[in-house]
Amino acid sequence: MATSNIEYQEALSYPLESYPLVACHECDAVYQRHDIPAGARANCTRCDNALYRNIPDSLDKSLALYISALVLMIIANVYPFLSIKTAGIFTENHVISGGYALYEFGMGELGIVVFLTSIVFPTLSIVGMLYLLMPLKFGHLPFAYGAVYRVVRACEPWSLLSVFMLGTLIAVVKLRGLATVSPGLGMFGFIGLLFVYSAARIRFDPEVIWQHSRVKQLRSTQIDSQAKVICCHTCGLIRPFSEHLHHCDRCRGKMHFRAIDSLERTSALLVSAALMLIPANLLPVMTIKMVGKGNPDTIISGIIHLFEGGLWGLAMIVLIASIVVPGLKLSAMSFLIYSVKNKSTWKPRDRTLLYRVTEVVGAWSMVDVFLVGLLSGLVQLGFLATVEPGLGVVFFGAAVILTMLAASSFDPRLIWDEAKDSKEITR
Ligand SMILES: [Zn+2]
Ligand SMILES: [Zn+2]
Repeated sequence: MATSNIEYQEALSYPLESYPLVACHECDAVYQRHDIPAGARANCTRCDNALYRNIPDSLDKSLALYISALVLMIIANVYPFLSIKTAGIFTENHVISGGYALYEFGMGELGIVVFLTSIVFPTLSIVGMLYLLMPLKFGHLPFAYGAVYRVVRACEPWSLLSVFMLGTLIAVVKLRGLATVSPGLGMFGFIGLLFVYSAARIRFDPEVIWQHSRVKQLRSTQIDSQAKVICCHTCGLIRPFSEHLHHCDRCRGKMHFRAIDSLERTSALLVSAALMLIPANLLPVMTIKMVGKGNPDTIISGIIHLFEGGLWGLAMIVLIASIVVPGLKLSAMSFLIYSVKNKSTWKPRDRTLLYRVTEVVGAWSMVDVFLVGLLSGLVQLGFLATVEPGLGVVFFGAAVILTMLAASSFDPRLIWDEAKDSKEITR
């Protein structure tokens, strides 16, 4: 194959087989980063986690999508979200109303959580990305880019837009028969935001930021293939392992060989979550009063009422989100901790997959909290119908947050530390 002179000279300027190194975030295997075709993804051969992707025009596409997301975020929050009409009474709410209703009923802490996860964290992540991408479009790295990127990364798992939308759909079905429910412009904005925000995250390749950094990457010829390395969890920069290395040269994030006290912190959070689930299931989560009548509902009795009312699909969704997911999540995380403590070598790949699933599905339990908040904010129709949140929802919300924190404090690389296969640099 013909090679132009320029390409040939560039190739000669690097030592033979000198590639930047990349480490898998989930099992710590080290690879040489090769060029891959447009649209392709390089996966870890050990645990199947995505290592890096080649997204064509990532900067332009993700910038355009994040700008659209910001516009949609403003529309979703400024305009009315849902309105209900019954017997001549008309009320409407906004995205913020659910959190505010919980605050008004004396559940300020939970109200703040709803406010943060449905508005503040998604907005921070969108604005943070625009702060990074706009100067990059003109070839400049913005001030404190590493810190801003860390904030964006920290906000993303807590941006629960899709969970909020599921809560809204359940609320609409529940209100059917009681009143005429109409979506407002805010809801259309919110649905658009949901798609555009997900698309923006998928189109973004972090290399867009790091390729502008002057910090040199470690190359395969600079290190022995079996040498111990340490990888930055934020930007993926690799350095030879050293006890004295505390911060990443590139993004200034803290560098740990393994997350500090991961097992102890995860165990403590899991025990607290399990304790919170007891009052969460015993105390009422919501009281729906129709024409002055109605009894407080616990999570279980609410599900039974849905089954009795013939709303099977809805009952199954609430059953899975509020009983099955928290239960499975507690069991799965306890099993992972137990297996790591006992230095198990049993199927590390499957255990990593279990961890990945646990991390993703956990947030969907928040749907109950959003549902109670939305209904309490919207259904205040005097004598005709009212919805009041119960104390159980506070404990339930606390349990969901604690299990999410438990999953994020667990370091999946611990699963692989006892694995028998080699994790030396793969060529
Ligand atoms: Zn891996
Ligand atoms: Zn870094």
